[in-house]
Amino acid sequence: MSAYDELAARWQRVMMPNYGTPPVALVQGKGCRVWDADGKDYLDLLAGIAVSSLGHAHPAVVDAVSHQVATLAHTSNLYLHEPGLRLAERLTGLLDTAAEARVFFCSTGTEANEAALKLVLRHGSTIGRRRIVAADHGFHGRTLGALSLTGKASIREPFGPYGTDVVFVPYGDAQALAAAVDEHTVAVLLETTQGEAGVVPPPEGYLVAAREICDATGTLLWLDEVQSAIGRTGYWYAHQADGVLPDMLTLAKGLGGGLPIGACIGIGPAATAFQRGDHGSTFGGNLVSVSAALAVLDTIEADGLLDHVREVGATFAAGLAAVEHPLLAGVRGRGLWLALVLTDDVSAVVEQYARAAGFLVNAVAPDAIRLAPPLVITAQECREFVDALPGVLAGAQQQLDTARVGP
Ligand code: PLP
Repeated sequence: MSAYDELAARWQRVMMPNYGTPPVALVQGKGCRVWDADGKDYLDLLAGIAVSSLGHAHPAVVDAVSHQVATLAHTSNLYLHEPGLRLAERLTGLLDTAAEARVFFCSTGTEANEAALKLVLRHGSTIGRRRIVAADHGFHGRTLGALSLTGKASIREPFGPYGTDVVFVPYGDAQALAAAVDEHTVAVLLETTQGEAGVVPPPEGYLVAAREICDATGTLLWLDEVQSAIGRTGYWYAHQADGVLPDMLTLAKGLGGGLPIGACIGIGPAATAFQRGDHGSTFGGNLVSVSAALAVLDTIEADGLLDHVREVGATFAAGLAAVEHPLLAGVRGRGLWLALVLTDDVSAVVEQYARAAGFLVNAVAPDAIRLAPPLVITAQECREFVDALPGVLAGAQQQLDTARVGP
């Protein structure tokens, strides 16, 4: 029995079935590589779903977290701490605005969105509006508030009805957005690129149009950058590439480099919409997670990782796009946040063949493979996957052909 088989059997006895049994048990990571319980190594092209921005066991994160946990790990928000202030100052300072901006810290992306939803409702109660316009196929989290705004009907509908007044519009269609936003709308919620839908960017100009529609109607623009922020696209915040400024911004994933931290940032009126007692979190802004986030920001800055992501991402995308195979329709995305677009609903098989070849990738949609590697990945490491891709696709093709012909 392999080490994996033994662990998988234990998993099936004790863990809830919501995830299904994961196909690999990981035990160690270094840089962009991870090792499984049976000693096989993989190039990690997913980074724990766009989280481990500096890769695994990065010395800056290890040092910061080790020092902090040995000094003071947790205070709750009954007491303030300077690293939390520094992180809030850094995050607001990275915005392209001199307007007032304020931060609420939490531990996950879902919680950042829950905070933002309450902020929107609080602001809405002062101006007599409640409705939120969100996008079809959008993803904002699994708790009931965030789920009510999630445009994936298959995961939203089993748990409704919800109390949120929400209208869904097709993502990327500025006319549909304009038609849906009116005097009842308090906020428009969008991802800068829809990550869980399959790394689907909007058409050029869509976010600018959304900003204009919000300005014309006195509506807040809330961008969910849980997956896209902190360097993933080669910008601190993905919206900076579009030249728009949101009124609210939610972050998590890559911010902590593997430690759990999320943030809801309000800009302008949204900065001060919460009153004392309106919201809270015991762990939010935990010192250990904050120290990791500061190390992530410092390292991105010191090592020029934004430029690196833009350059390596463009080379990676071009290399992947040059691979010719009937299963591969193309590549989409920006920076180190890419999707291989497949010609058929075969992503699960492609993911499996990639894993067998030593690459962790993600079947994010039936016809799309997501790549979101650590921001520190080298051009050489990207090349390894580009070189292996024809063999991975050929393996997947062969399995499909066999399945279709039958025994
Ligand atoms: N928002 C977006 C855009 C996401 O991609 C995700 C997770 O994939 C979430 C929210 C939820 O974040 P978390 O899983 O950290 O709660």
